[in-house]
Amino acid sequence: MKHLEAFEQAISTIREEGRYRVFIDLKRHRGSFPRATARFEHGEEKDIVVWCSNDYLGMGQDDDVINAMHEAVDTFGAGSGGTRNISGTTRFHVDLERELADLHGKETALLFTSGYVSNEATLSTLAKILPDVIIYSDALNHASMIEGIRRSGCDRRIFKHNDLGHLRALMENDAPDRPKVIAFESVYSMDGDVAPMKELCDLADEFNAITYLDEVHAVGMYGHEGAGVAQRDGVMDRIDIIEGTLAKAYGVMGGYIASDEAVVDAIRSMAPGFIFTTSTCPVMAAGALKSVAKLRTDEGRRLRAEHQAKAEMLKQKFRDAGLPLMESDTHIVPLMVGDPERCKALSDTLLHDFGVYVQPINYPTVPKGTERLRFTPSPVHTEEMMNDLVAALLAIWKQLGLPKAA
Ligand code: PLP
Repeated sequence: MKHLEAFEQAISTIREEGRYRVFIDLKRHRGSFPRATARFEHGEEKDIVVWCSNDYLGMGQDDDVINAMHEAVDTFGAGSGGTRNISGTTRFHVDLERELADLHGKETALLFTSGYVSNEATLSTLAKILPDVIIYSDALNHASMIEGIRRSGCDRRIFKHNDLGHLRALMENDAPDRPKVIAFESVYSMDGDVAPMKELCDLADEFNAITYLDEVHAVGMYGHEGAGVAQRDGVMDRIDIIEGTLAKAYGVMGGYIASDEAVVDAIRSMAPGFIFTTSTCPVMAAGALKSVAKLRTDEGRRLRAEHQAKAEMLKQKFRDAGLPLMESDTHIVPLMVGDPERCKALSDTLLHDFGVYVQPINYPTVPKGTERLRFTPSPVHTEEMMNDLVAALLAIWKQLGLPKAA
């Protein structure tokens, strides 16, 4: 292989910075989530509890979802067999798009193969449609939004995280007649804080800007029917383009946008990330359809209430134990470590000595110096699991000489 040294050098830099990523090989056992069996390098296995899954509500193990997927594979077969344009549109794709449009109160919706692709494809295509557009992007927006905005080649302004004053100053500085888009998330997944949604919509109205909202860490979990924070906060009709995933609370895979007919039609017709790839497998679409529909019902409301209660229970246990909880208003429960090597050491010891699996969160997912462990308790994490987790954390905290909460 030519230029091999360049690849080795790149890896060695990542290792030196303490952010080399090791994937944990998990064998899950249907129905017993969050328990699983990890397999290590030499084939040895250990039973563990998963504390960092984004299957926030455990819908990936839901019997109705699994049965819908079984039925789809039995009746439709495996893959979709083509791009959406060339034989890859099945009944499940169409029905799921209708369900998502209805969920978000929009005219129509469009499926993508992932949430990442939906952000990247939509944002990068907006500039083709609005050539003189300026995109105002929250500083903590996800990599998929950043990549989409970058690829669009349009003028972009980064506003300080959730800082309405800074956003206003940036918008005032630009010509009033240029098209504008404000791109932000509802729940920021690493800190667990929430955007000031109503105020952002007010600013958008004042400056005639389009609102683009990533609800990836909120769909299924917030709002009366699980449509997200915009639904909970009563501003869904003020968001022009809502983007979401089917891979987190909905427990399956795929991404989407929901918006006006003309917007979706233009993205459908112009976004390479939508056009030139095989469509989502119909089995996935069938599972997602069941999951989205189920989370709109009383069963969804019960799960959401239980999810919030479990998140609060874990936060309180961390507070009581003096662990450095990063306070949040949401289901995300981060513990600040502030150093990549210690963060990795903590995660390794938790896994190997205590059977607790929580992946270290390092740069570039979070800024350097803010490395952390990010826990995602679900309705199926028990209080006993939480007590075991806190005991393990306290033992390691002491062993590594880590500071407790101030
Ligand atoms: N948007 C945000 C805020 C995310 O955190 C993620 C993934 O973690 C995505 C988009 C991408 O979604 P998906 O995992 O479905 O590709």
